[in-house]
Amino acid sequence: MALVDSRNMFAAAYKGGFAVGAFNVNNMEITQGIVSAVAEEKAPLILQISRGARKYASMSYLRAIIDVAVAENPDIPIVMHLDHGDTFETCKQCVDDGFTSVMIDASKEPFEKNIEITGKVAEYAHAHNVVVEAELGQLGGIEEDVAGVDVGEVSKHLTDPEQAVEFVKKSGCDSLAIACGTSHGAYKFKSEPKLALDVIEAVAEKLPGFPLVMHGSSSVLAEFKDLINKYGGNMPDAMGVPEEAISRAVKLAVCKVNIDTDLRMALTAKIRQVFAESPKEFDPRKYLGPGREAIKEMVRHKLHVLDCAGRAAECL
Ligand SMILES: [Zn+2]
Repeated sequence: MALVDSRNMFAAAYKGGFAVGAFNVNNMEITQGIVSAVAEEKAPLILQISRGARKYASMSYLRAIIDVAVAENPDIPIVMHLDHGDTFETCKQCVDDGFTSVMIDASKEPFEKNIEITGKVAEYAHAHNVVVEAELGQLGGIEEDVAGVDVGEVSKHLTDPEQAVEFVKKSGCDSLAIACGTSHGAYKFKSEPKLALDVIEAVAEKLPGFPLVMHGSSSVLAEFKDLINKYGGNMPDAMGVPEEAISRAVKLAVCKVNIDTDLRMALTAKIRQVFAESPKEFDPRKYLGPGREAIKEMVRHKLHVLDCAGRAAECL
C-alpha cells in the first residue's frame, strides 16, 4: 500500500470512538520504534514531520525511511503529515514533496486572516488530493519554533465553538486542531492538569461528524521522567496530560492525538541510563537500540490509550 491520506482513518475513528496517534519523526530509530509498535498492534498511523525535522534530517532521508516503513507494512495505513506548517509556501512545498496531509497553523493571526491563509492552502492541497488540518485558538508552551501563550494563560485562549463552525465552513479545512487546555513541550501545567473537555464537547456538538485534533498531548510518563532525573537530567517539574483525560477526549470527536514529548523523553531516558550505568560504552547501537525499544513499548501502550490498537483494517 502507498501512503494514504487521513480521510478513511478519521471517518473510522469518529465512528468507532478512537483516535489515530500522530507521532513526530526525526530519524531512523524513532521511526522504527513507532512503526514496529503499530505493526504489532495493527493500528493506523500518522507519521508527522515538523519544519525542524525537515531541516535536521532532510526530506529525502525522512522520505526514504518512511517509504521503507510503508513497503514493509502493507496492511498498515500510514499518513505522512506536515506538523505546524507556518506559511502557504511551506505547505505547498510539502504537497509537492508527496505529503498526503498538511497542517497550516495560522492560529496566531486574526480570525479572518487565519481563514484566508487556511483557505489558500486548502485550495492548493485539495487540487492535489491532499488533506488539510488547521488550528483555531491558541495552545500554551513552546516546541521548536512554535511558541504559544504562557502555560498559565491557556484557559483564556480556548477555541470558541461558534467561531469553529464559521472557520471550518469558510476555510474548507478537513480537520481542526482546537485549543482545549493542552500545551506543547514537557511543562504543560503549572499545578493541576486540566483538560477543557467541555470545549471539545461544545465544538463537536456544533460540527457533527467533523474530526478534531489534540496537540500537545503527551503525558510525560513518570517512568521516563524519573529515569531522566535519576540519571543526571533535570526535569523535576515536567507535567503532561493524564492518559485518562485523553481516553475521554477520544470518545468525543478527537480523531488525531499528537505525541512528540513522550517520544523524546523515552529516547533520552534510555540513553541517559546506558551512559550512567555503562560509562565505557561508546557504540551508538548500544544506546540508540534501547532507546528505540523504549519508544516501541511506549507507543504500543499509547495505542491502547487511544483505543486504536487493532483498528488498521477499519481504516482502509
Ligand atoms: Zn502542535
